[in-house]
Amino acid sequence: MTETALVWFRRDLRVHDNPTLRQATAENDCVVPLYTFDTRQFGQSSRWIDERRVGTLRAQFVRESVRDLRERLNDRGGSLLVRRGDPRSVLPEAAESVDADVVHAQRLPVPEERETEAAVGDALDSRGIDLATHWTHTLHAIEDLPMAVENVQDTFTPWKDSVEANSQVRDPLGPPASVPTPDLEGTPIPTLAELGDDEPDQPADDSPMPVSGGESAALERLQTYIFERDRLREYRETRNGLLGMDFSSKFSPWLAQGCLSPRRVKQAVDRYESERVANDSTYWLLFELRWRDFFQFQFAKHGEAYFRSGGIQSREVAWNRDETAFRRWTDGETGFPFVDAAMRELRATGYQSNRARQNAASFLANTLRIDWRWGAAYYESRLLDYDVASNYGNWAYVAGVGTDSRDRAFDVLWQAHNYDPDAEYVRRWVPELSKLPPRYAHEPWRMDIDEQARYGVELGVDYPEPMVDPTAHFEGPSS
Ligand SMILES: Cc1cc2nc3c(=O)[nH]c(=O)nc-3n(C[C@H](O)[C@H](O)[C@H](O)COP(=O)(O)OP(=O)(O)OC[C@H]3O[C@@H](n4cnc5c(N)ncnc54)[C@H](O)[C@@H]3O)c2cc1C
Repeated sequence: MTETALVWFRRDLRVHDNPTLRQATAENDCVVPLYTFDTRQFGQSSRWIDERRVGTLRAQFVRESVRDLRERLNDRGGSLLVRRGDPRSVLPEAAESVDADVVHAQRLPVPEERETEAAVGDALDSRGIDLATHWTHTLHAIEDLPMAVENVQDTFTPWKDSVEANSQVRDPLGPPASVPTPDLEGTPIPTLAELGDDEPDQPADDSPMPVSGGESAALERLQTYIFERDRLREYRETRNGLLGMDFSSKFSPWLAQGCLSPRRVKQAVDRYESERVANDSTYWLLFELRWRDFFQFQFAKHGEAYFRSGGIQSREVAWNRDETAFRRWTDGETGFPFVDAAMRELRATGYQSNRARQNAASFLANTLRIDWRWGAAYYESRLLDYDVASNYGNWAYVAGVGTDSRDRAFDVLWQAHNYDPDAEYVRRWVPELSKLPPRYAHEPWRMDIDEQARYGVELGVDYPEPMVDPTAHFEGPSS
């Protein structure tokens, strides 16, 4: 008897190290891959703010990733069905139409995806079709954790220590040799307009984040960053950089859509360590991937509690909900150049370095005391690498309602001078300040009237006055 499996691709848009696809091809004579653009996300508004859940840059990245997946399946004799709609109805209908015996799918830890999976499972069950799910997106498999998910520690270091001592990372799987898909009518990938993106944002022409979606580009970047440009050697020293492609790996957009498997990254790091050098930097990339894992397991443990204003700690905080102030932050018009540079970069490129994210997030949540979920929702819309657990987990952490309740308020002025000593980052993204010396580029309010005239920057006209009193919130550099 010929068995048919439908493979429901979710955030695992790759053929390498994809246990879902491998099991389906190993156990079935016929495999039908499917991707659905979920119309409860594409084209929909956030539940907290007036922003699309999926902004243009990420929508485009996902389209490219799906196109590349289709090509890589084609190379193995397979094809990809593409649908647009609600997976809760699309999946059961598609499975029935191809006479599937089983649906294989990735298992995800966040509430919305879990509910979708449960609803799809019920609908399939009523049609006599099985649903088999696979946890495939973390470095450490959920089955290999030294603790049950409900016992995952709420602070990173003890969890990481335990995992490093007691859990092995499995070797990545290769792609299946072939994907035996029956002749199916190809369906085009929806356009941005069909995905509800009527007014696409314009990416910066000279975006320093020129990444395209898909497994092919991800594997190329892995090779380029680690081996060709040899950047892993100094990753720990450079990772707090702000400008350019190579101060950090930039793997995040591909990891978020599953175009790249973290185990495949570890395999490359292992090879680099045996062929070139093993040092703090090579360890540190895996350390950061464990941060990523940590938030995935945190969400598996706490679920919806992560979206409460008081977070998993249920902290009582009287968050401010001032929309005008919030928009000054999103628009990069706070009057604090380091924060404004970060917000303008995000809008233009879909990316911010980790350092820029921490500062911009802290400014919103700790300085302005605006509901951190508004900020997280804005990042959800704009980030190329948006991932539910990494985004809301990091935001909650910075806002002091997540895995660590310590005060995480950043001294944005100190950070600006320390990490951007020549104000290159500020000058790149806030061009109206480009002629100022670094001290004034970071603190333009220090200029007197004569200096404003000399540099051609009138405060309150050419660049905003600071929206809060700098001296009341920040100490800045000591000198
Ligand atoms: C407020 C805020 C929101 C964030 N939102 C996201 C998000 O939606 N998606 C996302 O992938 N990362 C998020 N991060 C984490 C981090 O900023 C990015 O992963 C990183 O900047 C991506 O650049 P990179 O790939 O060059 O990172 P690298 O420094 O090269 O790190 C390698 C990989 O490790 C992982 N990683 C590194 N730092 C973290 C971290 N703090 N938490 C989780 N994973 C990490 C990422 O997968 C990253 O690609 C957020 C951080 C903050 C402070």
